[in-house]
Amino acid sequence: MARIISGTDISREIRAGIAEGVAALGEEGIKPTLAAVLVGSDPASEVYVRNKAQACQRVGMGSRTLNLPEDIEVDELFGAIDGLNADPQIHGILVQLPLPRHLPYKQVLNRVAPHKDVDGFHPLNAGLSFVGDPEGFVPATPAGIMKILEWEKVPTHGKHAVIVGRSLIVSKPLASLLMAPGPNATVTLTHKYTVDLASHTRMADILIVAVGKPGLITADMVKPGVVVIDAGTTRVVDPEGKPRYRIAGDVDFEGVSEVAAAITPVPGGVGPMTITMLLSNTLEAARRTSGATSSTLPEALVGSGKRGRRSSS
Ligand code: NAP
Repeated sequence: MARIISGTDISREIRAGIAEGVAALGEEGIKPTLAAVLVGSDPASEVYVRNKAQACQRVGMGSRTLNLPEDIEVDELFGAIDGLNADPQIHGILVQLPLPRHLPYKQVLNRVAPHKDVDGFHPLNAGLSFVGDPEGFVPATPAGIMKILEWEKVPTHGKHAVIVGRSLIVSKPLASLLMAPGPNATVTLTHKYTVDLASHTRMADILIVAVGKPGLITADMVKPGVVVIDAGTTRVVDPEGKPRYRIAGDVDFEGVSEVAAAITPVPGGVGPMTITMLLSNTLEAARRTSGATSSTLPEALVGSGKRGRRSSS
């Protein structure tokens, strides 16, 4: 039976360290603060934003939520983001996805000043992470998955990591982190058009799944002793349950637990780690403004003029 890796437990310890960092900055008069931009009233997005705000408060950080109407014009949204970029009290900005269809989400994400882009979605941060430059903010979910592997002392060196999914938010940055010098894993990325997915997943020493299809990975698709990280998060209606929905991962947890050496549950695995790494990035962004650690990003890239200047609180 697989060992269950609790992202909740790991998060608790890491967040205690983050709270200490926040308190130390407080002595310099800086309150690390995360702003969330929420467009519309998607119930799942509202829950995610509320959870992030609560997590901020629990470690002593500030949080601000900008609730914007579903039918907002793109220029108005840009204006709101520019305001946050220029606000020295705000150190991190996240735009909650998905956005309403009429909004060009790539352009919206690109509007966030890179030095406040604690989600790591701006192309500058994606590029810096890709070349292994620590100046780049790494997206929170892949950062959280790497932290789980490190915390649990899962060997990666020379191991075969198979990732199911190829998204920009989770899988691609994760592939680059796993294959980098240090972790030194051999990485296979799979996607919707991969032929015979099981032939790949069965080769994995570490299997990471980020698709959004509950039950996609079954026990016959993994080899004995594999470490399974399930990033999938799908709201599934449960007519019997209270509440009437539950969050499901991509892995058949019961079946795969019989074969794997270790596995993350959903909920309680990758989810809390994602929020933890978001807090960690926000603390880092605030430290950079304080000069506690220096950013070497050129001024032109950290934002100027109407894109907002580096904050100096
Ligand atoms: P996404 O952008 O929709 O990407 C899903 C990926 O899965 C795509 O690359 C897609 O392939 C691939 N895929 C779809 N069907 C497949 C199949 N049958 N076999 C193999 N690959 C398949 O989603 P995402 O943003 O990466 O998120 C993935 C999941 O992780 C979602 O459930 C999301 O809610 C969850 N998530 C959780 C957290 C957290 O904090 N726990 C954070 C982020 C995301 P193509 O590229 O070919 O379409």
